[in-house]
Amino acid sequence: MNVQTFPRLEIPNTLAAGPGPGNTDPRVLEAFAAAGVADHMQGDVLRGMVECKHMLRSIWGTKNTYTFGVAGTGWSALDSMFSAVMPGDTVVAFSNGTFSGIDALTLRIKASTREELAADSLSPAAASVTVIEVPHGSSVTGEIVEAALAEHKPKWAFMAHWETGSGRINDLRGFSDACERHGAMGLIDAVSSLGVEDFSIDDFPGIAGWASCPQKGICCLPLTYAPVSFTDRYIENLRANGAYTFVHNPIFEARHWGIVDGQDVEKGTYHRTHSGYAVAAFHESLRLTLEEGLANRAESYKKHEQVLRAAIVAMGCDVTSNMTSLVVFNLPEAFAGREMELVQACRAEGFGIWPTLSEPVQVRIGILNQLTPAAITEIVNRFADAMRRMGANVDQSEITSLLEGHYAQMQAA
Ligand SMILES: *Cc1c(COP(=O)(O)O)cnc(C)c1O
Repeated sequence: MNVQTFPRLEIPNTLAAGPGPGNTDPRVLEAFAAAGVADHMQGDVLRGMVECKHMLRSIWGTKNTYTFGVAGTGWSALDSMFSAVMPGDTVVAFSNGTFSGIDALTLRIKASTREELAADSLSPAAASVTVIEVPHGSSVTGEIVEAALAEHKPKWAFMAHWETGSGRINDLRGFSDACERHGAMGLIDAVSSLGVEDFSIDDFPGIAGWASCPQKGICCLPLTYAPVSFTDRYIENLRANGAYTFVHNPIFEARHWGIVDGQDVEKGTYHRTHSGYAVAAFHESLRLTLEEGLANRAESYKKHEQVLRAAIVAMGCDVTSNMTSLVVFNLPEAFAGREMELVQACRAEGFGIWPTLSEPVQVRIGILNQLTPAAITEIVNRFADAMRRMGANVDQSEITSLLEGHYAQMQAA
């Protein structure tokens, strides 16, 4: 037999300056590496999970008992959130970029009848699902949501809070209010906003389910837990109708986090194997978030995004995003069409910026957990270098004084 082996895998440290994952905090990595081997029913692992549950409720501003983490990434949490959507359920989904587009696909899959799924299993046209397409680069507004919910009166409504594909913030207040007015259960993809923006779930009573991820605002890439939160109404509906999954059914999954029959219990009961490493890392990332305070962190993102945006604009680019953790932009006219070339040149040097993943092609630069003048300056300078190498006329002394000016002004304020 021909057995093939390989040298030990070495992965370099790059500058993660994209939409996510963000740079994992050293404290989180340290917690991951320092955890002992312990099984998923060991006392400290279970205690850690219960503490994470309580910290998540604080961070997310909610009394929802069903607030916990789904093992995996954003899509794991979203799959769990969408698990209550059953074949034939009526849904209105708003799509304004790559991620909400995939969410809408998930909803079409979940709400399809067997016949609809068999007719086009990878992209079924579920008659009960209406997808409202909002152009890339613009936001889903309260008026758009109101009009669609008034017309369709669906059981479920879906929107991404922050659409990372185009860098747009959608109207959460308008969405929640419209859901309340029309009796829809709102579902929110909060993958990009949790841990970046200061908002509280309980201020948005029209929303029944929330799903986020570990590696963006929560800065916890070592594959850990994707936060979710569900209202009692969601859970009652789920209990009444069921879901075609054991592992991602929120009622089952919550048990390991010490949530049983709608009540907090002292210790979790087995749902699936959990890793002490992952629990320790997640726990540390939540402690970090609470120590800094969401209001402070959100303010810091705002400030640094403004500086990055100003520098990108000074290089002649056209910024079309309004998220505070990410800048999405078009290159100057003369370089249109060379976005992939530029992004690939940066990535080849360990400067991890991104293109958009669906049309139109734009450049995305993110600042997750890069909230210092030094970090932003490095990102800007590396991008300016790459622009010059492509032939752009970017004056470094102008960029440097722009950065220094902004940061001096902030220091003074
Ligand atoms: C990143 C992202 C996802 C996907 O998350 P994964 O962690 O890659 O599974 C979904 N929705 C939005 C809005 C995102 O930004």
